[in-house]
Amino acid sequence: MSYPDTRLFIAGTWRDAADGRTIPVRNPATGEEIGRVAHAGRADLDAALEAADKGFATWRDMTPAARSRIMRGAAALMRERAGGIAQLMTREQGKPLAEAKGEAMAAADIIEWFAEEGFRVYGRLVPHRTDPAVRQMVVKDPVGPTAAFTPWNFPINQVVRKIGAGLAAGCSMIVKAPEETPASPAELIRAFQDAGLPEGVLGLVYGDPAEISEYLIASPIIRKITFTGSTPVGKLLAAQAGKYMKRVSMELGGHAPVIVCEDADVDLAVKSIGGAKFRNAGQVCISPTRFLVHNSVKARFAEAFAALAQGLKVGDGTAEGTQMGPLANPRRLDAMKAFQEDAVARGATVLTGGARIGEAGNFWQPTVLTDVPLSAKLFNEEPFGPVAGIRGFDTLDEAIAEANRLSYGLAAYAFTASLKNADLLTRRVEAGMLWVNTPAAGTAELPFGGIKDSGYGTEGGPEALEAYLNTRAVVIANV
Ligand code: NAD
Repeated sequence: MSYPDTRLFIAGTWRDAADGRTIPVRNPATGEEIGRVAHAGRADLDAALEAADKGFATWRDMTPAARSRIMRGAAALMRERAGGIAQLMTREQGKPLAEAKGEAMAAADIIEWFAEEGFRVYGRLVPHRTDPAVRQMVVKDPVGPTAAFTPWNFPINQVVRKIGAGLAAGCSMIVKAPEETPASPAELIRAFQDAGLPEGVLGLVYGDPAEISEYLIASPIIRKITFTGSTPVGKLLAAQAGKYMKRVSMELGGHAPVIVCEDADVDLAVKSIGGAKFRNAGQVCISPTRFLVHNSVKARFAEAFAALAQGLKVGDGTAEGTQMGPLANPRRLDAMKAFQEDAVARGATVLTGGARIGEAGNFWQPTVLTDVPLSAKLFNEEPFGPVAGIRGFDTLDEAIAEANRLSYGLAAYAFTASLKNADLLTRRVEAGMLWVNTPAAGTAELPFGGIKDSGYGTEGGPEALEAYLNTRAVVIANV
């Protein structure tokens, strides 16, 4: 599949921006321009809003069974087309082809799960206090047209989690997908179009993120905002949404602690968490980042972890055998350099990596640092790259205190053979998601989201649908 230019999807048609503006799209493995994406202006956004309003009126009144049929059709098309879509994703985002294909296939699972869950949007009947003939009902309705803003690290997954839940609940949605990686999310939208989604139920725009979010959030047509991205931008959008009293879901940054206890299976920890650390070159909101290892096993863990990192095959994601691709954009390279220099200046030791690879593309070596001081930027700001920092601890209380020290609260990991430790971790670690003795697996049926500065709302499980529903009370007396 050759890399296409990406257009806007408004009112059921693919179109250029009204004023013809476009933005270049670059391959992060080479830095070369590979295509262009349409840059929406006000006229396009107005058209998208009008379409979302009409689309909502249609979709809201369809039965869950009818919605489910269309969603299942889109899921089947995603599976059929996953190979071609993966090629596009790898070229625009950089991740290895197998990861890209896995993302497209997982999108189908997510759509199907939500297509089913849409059948289970129930209300309830509540007995009246004095008159049994009075019907008191609790009804659930879709919130309405939603504006969704998604980032470039998982170009399809970040969109499909929002679309899956929103459509199943009966909402229409305008998606502002990432300008850096526009073609693969466009294919997701196309799957819904080809599966027979009515006009206006989904819209897709690109352009200036701040301009688009400000305009859509302020529009009276939009009833809900959902965003995935960094915490500072999330806070900005939540504040804007608050001004207009709009419902909000925020899936923001994290800085996941990994606690490796004295009694842990160190080999299991290295194997499972090592793979997770360098997946998508570390550009994952739930990426393990702060490795807190009991001092009795720290040296063994650090050595094995560094060996794993050193052995990874880094290269163009389209090349056979590549295990880690480039960073998605040159901003991340600058960020990696800054994390590295700061940590070393403060006394951390580099076990492996720590430098850019080559001159073309955004490649950074898989990097492991040990004895990272708490004052290092790496232990305070989300690294969002292939960099792991290790620190030792003596007591579990100490490790838990460090895990909870930051304002983030997205993912956390732990390795221990003891139920007592696992129970304490379950009760004490402040994170929306905790995995013990296993790497992360974000499935549609489990809640996915953070607490504290990592946001609110979840993008998995029945709670994900609740985020797109209004709960209302209706009382009918028999006259
Ligand atoms: P950024 O904060 O500039 O942007 C993050 C995302 O938000 C991008 O997709 C961007 O287009 C969007 N965005 C920015 N300003 C916006 C606005 N006013 N309205 C609507 N959308 C807006 O950072 P970046 O350089 O693109 O990415 C780096 C940081 O972003 C990382 O350090 C990480 O913290 C965060 N990030 C998080 C996730 C996640 O899955 N939670 C994904 C991508 C990036």
